[in-house]
Amino acid sequence: MSGVVVIGAGVGGLAVAARLAAAGHRVTVCEQAPVVGGKLGVLHRDGFRFDTGPSLLTLPHVFADLFAATGTPLADVLDLVPLDPIVRHRFPDGTVLDSCRDPVEFAARIADGFGPVAARQWRAFATRAERIWDASHGPFLESALDPATLLRQARHTATIAPWRSLRALARSYLDDPRLRMMVDRYATYSGSDPRRAPAALAAVPHAELAFGGWYIRGGLRRLADALAERCQSLGVELRTGTEVVRVTADRHRATGVELADGTVLAADTIVADADAEHLYTDLIRVPGEARRLRRAPRSLSGFVLLLGLRGRTPGLAHHTVDFPADYDAEFDAVFGDPARPVADPALYLSVPPDAAPAGHEAVFLLVNAARQGTGPGTVDWRAPGLADWYAGHLLDRLAARGLDVRDRVLFREVVSPADLETRTRSVGGAIYGTSSNGARAAFRRPANRSPVPGLFLVGGSSHPGGGLPLVALSAEITAGLIGPA
Ligand SMILES: Cc1cc2nc3c(=O)[nH]c(=O)nc-3n(C[C@H](O)[C@H](O)[C@H](O)COP(=O)(O)OP(=O)(O)OC[C@H]3O[C@@H](n4cnc5c(N)ncnc54)[C@H](O)[C@@H]3O)c2cc1C
Repeated sequence: MSGVVVIGAGVGGLAVAARLAAAGHRVTVCEQAPVVGGKLGVLHRDGFRFDTGPSLLTLPHVFADLFAATGTPLADVLDLVPLDPIVRHRFPDGTVLDSCRDPVEFAARIADGFGPVAARQWRAFATRAERIWDASHGPFLESALDPATLLRQARHTATIAPWRSLRALARSYLDDPRLRMMVDRYATYSGSDPRRAPAALAAVPHAELAFGGWYIRGGLRRLADALAERCQSLGVELRTGTEVVRVTADRHRATGVELADGTVLAADTIVADADAEHLYTDLIRVPGEARRLRRAPRSLSGFVLLLGLRGRTPGLAHHTVDFPADYDAEFDAVFGDPARPVADPALYLSVPPDAAPAGHEAVFLLVNAARQGTGPGTVDWRAPGLADWYAGHLLDRLAARGLDVRDRVLFREVVSPADLETRTRSVGGAIYGTSSNGARAAFRRPANRSPVPGLFLVGGSSHPGGGLPLVALSAEITAGLIGPA
C-alpha cells in the first residue's frame, strides 16, 4: 500500500482521490480553504442559496462512471434533472431561441424563429460538430497527453480542421448572425476567444446538445459534497485549512509536501489539483514548465453577481443568455491589451427553481471578465470601488436589456476574479488555467504526468481542460497513469 497526497480538494482532487482510494491507495487530500469543492462553491444568505461557480452540468455519464467505479451509483447519491430549455438565448433583435437535447425539436425551433434555411444550415453544422466529437473525445479528452495524442488526432485532420478557428468553421455553415453568436459563446466554455479558438471546440455544443444540460436538485454544489462523502467512505483523509507550500523532491523523484505550518508529509505519489501555474511557480521548480505556462494564452475569468430578489423576473428560464449588440467588443475587452471590464457583456443568468424562499428568486449572474492582475491583459479588480461599481453597472445593463430588477434587490454579493484567485489560488482567477486560443494551445496544456517522477497533475488547468466533466476525465486519466496500489 502506497501513500498519495493530493494538493487541493476541488472536483479534480476529490475525483482522483476517490479513484485512487478505490484502487487501494492510502490517500490524504490537503486543501488550503476551510471547505472542499474549490470553484464549485456555495453561498447561503437569508434563506437563499447560490452556487457561486458551475450552474450547468454536462456529460453526466462521466460522473456516472466515476461513482460506479468507486461505489454506489450516481443515481443513488444525486438527483439529476434534465433541462429544457438547456439555455434560453435572447438576441439583441429581441428574438429568443431555446436550445434542447432533441435535434429534431431544436431544428424545428430554429425554423420557427429564424426560418427553414437557418434550420437546414444548423443541421449541417451539427453533423460536422458530431463528427468532430467522434474524432476527438476518445483520442484526446479521454487519453493522456503524449506524442501519440497528436498522431491519433492526425488521422482526423480533415474533420477537425486544426488550421481553422471555431468562428471560421461556424461561418462556413451558418449565415444567421444569431446562430453564429450562439456558437461563438461555446469558445468561452474553455476560457477562449472564438476568433482564435480552434474549430475542434465545435465538439462543445455537440456535447451539450447531444447529452443534455442538467441540474442537480439542491444545487450543483451537492456534487462536491457527494464526492467528499465518497472519499470519506473509501478512507480518504480530507484535511481542510491545510495549505501546501512546497512539493519536496530528491534528485530522483517527488517525495512529499511541506505544509504552511512546517510539517512535511512524505508520499510516494503527489497529485496536484492546484492551478498548474501555482504548482510550477510557487510549489516546485521544474525547468521550463513555469516559463512555458507564462507564455501560454491564459483563460478568461468571470465576474459573478449573486442577487437575492423579491418576486420573480418574467422571461427567464433556468439558464438564460442575453447577448449584446457587439459581441466582439467583449472579446476585445477580455483578451485585449489593455484589458478592461466589458462595458456591454453577454449576461448569463441562472435561476434555479429550489434556491430561494417562496415568492423570491436567487439569481446568479455571470459575465466574462479579464483576469485579475496589474500587468498587461489583466484588470486590477482589487482597485477600491471597482467591483462594486461594476456590479451596479451590470444591474443597469440588465435593465437596459429589459430585465430591470433594481427595485427588487434585497441584497447582492460579488465574486470578482480577485476573489476567485484568493479562494482557489487560480492565478489571476483564470477559470480554466490556460485557454484554447491558438491551434496548438490544447496540446500545450500541462500534461497529467509531470516531468518529475512521482508528481502528477489533475484538474481544469491540466489536460484535457476545465469544466466539471473534463476535470473528472482528467482524474480518470491521472488515476490510470498512477495505477493500482
Ligand atoms: C463562475 C464559474 C462558473 C462555472 N460554470 C461552470 C459550469 O456551468 N459548468 C461546468 O462544467 N464548469 C463550470 N465552471 C468550471 C468548473 O468550476 C471548474 O472547471 C472546476 O470546478 C475546476 O475544478 P478543479 O478541481 O480543477 O479546480 P479548483 O476547483 O480550482 O480546485 C483546486 C483546489 O486546490 C486548492 N489549492 C490550490 N492551491 C493549494 C495549495 N497550495 N495548498 C492546498 N490547496 C490548494 C484550492 O483551494 C482549490 O480548492 C465554472 C467555474 C466558475 C469559476
